[in-house]
Amino acid sequence: MIRIVEVGPRDGLQNEPTPIPPEEKLAFIQRLRDAGLVEIEATSLVSPKWVPQLGDAETLWPQLPAGGLYSALVPNAKGLERAVSLGVKRIALFTAASDAFTQKNINMTVAQSLEVFAEVAAAFRAQVPDGWLRGYVSTAFECPFAGRVDPEATVSVASELLKIGCDEISIGDTIGVAAPVEVKRLTPLLASAVPLDKLNYHFHDTRGTAIANVAQALEQGVRSFDSSAGGLGGCPYAPGAGGNLATEDLVYFLERSGFATGLEPLRLAQASLPILEQLGRPPASKAQRAALAALPQTQ
Ligand code: MG
Repeated sequence: MIRIVEVGPRDGLQNEPTPIPPEEKLAFIQRLRDAGLVEIEATSLVSPKWVPQLGDAETLWPQLPAGGLYSALVPNAKGLERAVSLGVKRIALFTAASDAFTQKNINMTVAQSLEVFAEVAAAFRAQVPDGWLRGYVSTAFECPFAGRVDPEATVSVASELLKIGCDEISIGDTIGVAAPVEVKRLTPLLASAVPLDKLNYHFHDTRGTAIANVAQALEQGVRSFDSSAGGLGGCPYAPGAGGNLATEDLVYFLERSGFATGLEPLRLAQASLPILEQLGRPPASKAQRAALAALPQTQ
């Protein structure tokens, strides 16, 4: 069984310019649940000033459909306060393998971000003893500001996140440049610092390499991947280009390769349609388009 973490409602919608009302988001999350998705990154507790698309966490969280394992991105101590008061049990912290990226994104060096997150992680553990903590390493292969990233830098940040108590490390190809040979090089290095069952890949399909990278990571024993229904979330560093790997493409590839996902491809293909309509664009996912085209046409 392959673990899929759906990031559309958070990572996807955060990177779409059109804000979606909370009731539409809730209906979207319900459809994702109906398709069989369990782990869903639902929102972010970053200041609404910076990410207005996700400024409705306080409205959204108490109404999330029952039965899901929902997580929220927490940027700092203030975000943690909001998370705890909402009863959030699963949080994600966000840093990167490149100082140039964290400086622009969170106004800290990587080392400073790890110091802040060590405190946030400790406070989270103290207040939510049964909580679950994810650490993101963005720009794991390349930084949009500083170019290629040394695999050792990525491994070092992953290892630090593990030390501050993360239950899982998600390795992100933030600008969607990686090719399988890079995944082949990086994964064993990561696995020497982080147990394989705590490793997750967050690939972007900006240049059409995401599925090839998933295939390589599977070869190396990774069994957990992020994806976004309908490929929601463009690439903020390549305007107009695709971003997140689409859940439909991932599920098609896995199931066809003999890996069970437990998801219903048709329901999944339909889950993001009302959101895509609001955003005014067709599905980016080829597997989604193929699934929809095979549906009987209704008048
Ligand atoms: Mg992403």
